[in-house]
Amino acid sequence: MTVQFPATQINKYILSKSTELQSALFPLEKLDLKRIEGIQKDIPLFQTTSMEQVKFISKWFQVLNLMRGCFENCTFCLRNALKPVKENSESINTILWNDFLRFTEGFSKLGERLGVNPLKGNSHITLFEDSNMPVAKMKDLNGNIYSTSDALKEIYSKFQIPIVFVTSGWGVNNKFAQKTAEELCEFVDKNPECAREFAVSVNPFFYGPRDKYIEKVANALKTFLPLFKNDKNVGSTLFKHNYPNGKDAEITGENAAKKLYNEIYLKLQEMTDSKLSDYERLKPEFVTRPKEFNLIENKGRGQQFFSADEVRKNDKKLFVESFEWMTLTRDQKQQRAYECMTKNVDINGQIYLMTPSEQRISTNIVLNFINKDKKTAAIHTDKKFADAVIE
Ligand code: SF4
Repeated sequence: MTVQFPATQINKYILSKSTELQSALFPLEKLDLKRIEGIQKDIPLFQTTSMEQVKFISKWFQVLNLMRGCFENCTFCLRNALKPVKENSESINTILWNDFLRFTEGFSKLGERLGVNPLKGNSHITLFEDSNMPVAKMKDLNGNIYSTSDALKEIYSKFQIPIVFVTSGWGVNNKFAQKTAEELCEFVDKNPECAREFAVSVNPFFYGPRDKYIEKVANALKTFLPLFKNDKNVGSTLFKHNYPNGKDAEITGENAAKKLYNEIYLKLQEMTDSKLSDYERLKPEFVTRPKEFNLIENKGRGQQFFSADEVRKNDKKLFVESFEWMTLTRDQKQQRAYECMTKNVDINGQIYLMTPSEQRISTNIVLNFINKDKKTAAIHTDKKFADAVIE
């Protein structure tokens, strides 16, 4: 594809809009994209992407997946995360580091040409959909290895948009994950504005022996301890439990979750020689205080804890949403997706959407990743929406 306008003409137009661009939340909305089409074509990431598509991706951009699949097998997982697929010549389970850089450098290069970050307006970026970040091990074409910590530094230096980070902990003998977590902690401690949320997940929906889970979560809290200090407001816990009338509530409900956290806190005290007086936000009465947000969601594997009636009710709501989507015209769908759905990138560059009720819709937009023809595991959705209409 050739550049449609002389670069100087594009530059003049962009310059004439610079005040508007600087003050806009989603700056590409302020431009007549026909007048700048071509500005992106020599950037490898956008070789097959129009500026209309870049604009589409940039509004409510949310997830840049580093890895797909999870070893944790939590029984309440709303993404129904399964073990990563086996990598071979056709399938991948982590992003190729060169593709990750293609993404960050591509958007950053376009930003230089526009004089403004095209992703501006998005409150945060998440690096996972159905995985547990500290264990993500990415490789480049030369076999060099990179971690979530390397990814965070790159994202933050290019976009200055904070990340949302949640982990369920990692095996205490996993040296790579441990080192990644320590590096993450050091970077976030020095640059607290780089994380909108930095949470350790605590809940009774773990899979496997209880003592191993307690040790794993206590170790994660100990590793991120500097972020929980009273004078810092960075580290947090994501405490979840079942409804009082939910299935197996005696082992997954509020009281059981509180008891579990008390044991985790005791283990943490043991690991830190009881030096926890400066960490109020880790005290059991703080972590386990009642909040509506503590209740689990009726989604994915979590549905097993709800009665058949509640699952049916929820399913009906999703049916109405998917039926309504089906009745929209192509233009209406495009508009609804642009305005109301998040835009997410799979590890092969495929763009997919999440509806407000977190149901997945595929699109025909694929960023020009080196691995764009590789297969990835299907991303879970409770309800199948009509796919592939967004281009
Ligand atoms: S809840 Fe998170 S850690 Fe647990 S299985 Fe799902 S993705 Fe993995």
